[in-house]
Amino acid sequence: MSILNAIFRYEGKEELINLEDISKREDYELVKENLFCSFEGCYCPLQYIAKGAISEYLKRRIGELHNESCTYFTLPNLTGHSRRIVGTSSSILRDDHVASILRGLYDVYTETTDEREVRLKRGRENARVRRNNKIDKSKSEKDVEEVYVNKATTSSEGESLVEGERNPPVRRRYSLLDLSDIDIGQTEGIIGELVSIVNNEKRTILELTDRLNKITLYVYLEEVFFDNSPVNIDTSLKVLSEIVNKGKKIYVSCVGEVVYRDDKLGMLLLREKDLRINRVPVIIFIHQFNE
Ligand SMILES: [Zn+2]
Repeated sequence: MSILNAIFRYEGKEELINLEDISKREDYELVKENLFCSFEGCYCPLQYIAKGAISEYLKRRIGELHNESCTYFTLPNLTGHSRRIVGTSSSILRDDHVASILRGLYDVYTETTDEREVRLKRGRENARVRRNNKIDKSKSEKDVEEVYVNKATTSSEGESLVEGERNPPVRRRYSLLDLSDIDIGQTEGIIGELVSIVNNEKRTILELTDRLNKITLYVYLEEVFFDNSPVNIDTSLKVLSEIVNKGKKIYVSCVGEVVYRDDKLGMLLLREKDLRINRVPVIIFIHQFNE
C-alpha cells in the first residue's frame, strides 16, 4: 500500500505533507530527513525516495517498523514478488548521454523556483499518462519475475553499445543526501558543491558537500582517471584548486561508481569526460574564469 503523506517533525513542530509536495519544498533537504508515518500512534521514520526511473515514493526506513495497529504495518520480507536475474551485463555509457546527464544535474540543481514549477508540472503530466496505461495483470501475478539486468558503467571493461541499443538506466542524485547503501556499486550521476581539492601525483580527491553542508562526499580520481584523460588534466586540477581557494562557488557534477570507503559513501571517477565544473568541462571552466 502506497504511503501518500507524512508528518514532517522537527524541533517540536509538526506538519502534514503530501508526497507530491515534498520535492517542491524550499527546505527539502531538511524535510526529507525528518519524515514520519502520519497514522495515529505510529511514529515510524520514513524514507523519501526521489523520482528516478519510477515515480517518487515513501517507505519505512530500514530497520524500522510501523506500529502493529498502523494501516501500513506489514511483516518484513513477506510481501512483494521475487525477481530472478537471468543475466547481467555492463555497458559503457555513450559520451553524449553522459554529457546530457551532467548538464541536466547542473540545470536542476541551480534552477529557479519558477523553472522548478514548470519541470514538476511536466513530470506530473507524464505521470498521469503513465497511470492511465493499462497494466498487464497476467505479468504482475506471476510469482517470479525474470529480469535481465544491463548495468551502466564508465569502465573500459564494459561492453560497447551498438547502434540502436539503449543506454542502461543511470540514477541521478540531485542531493548528496539522497545517496544510500543501495547505491554502492552502481554507476550514477551526482552533483555537489566543491569544498576543497587535494592533489597528489596521479591521485586527486575532490571534497563535495550538499546545499546545507550536512555531509561531505569524496570523489576519487586515481591512476585510471589520469590515464583516461587529456595529458594536461593534472595542471587543470591544480588551477581549479586555486580557484576554489579564492572562494568561488563551484558545482561539480559527475558520473561514476558509488563506492564505500573509510566508513563513508564516495564516488570513483574513471574519465575526465564524466566530470563537469559549473556545467562545462574543467578546461573550459578555467578558460571562462580567466577571461
Ligand atoms: Zn505507520
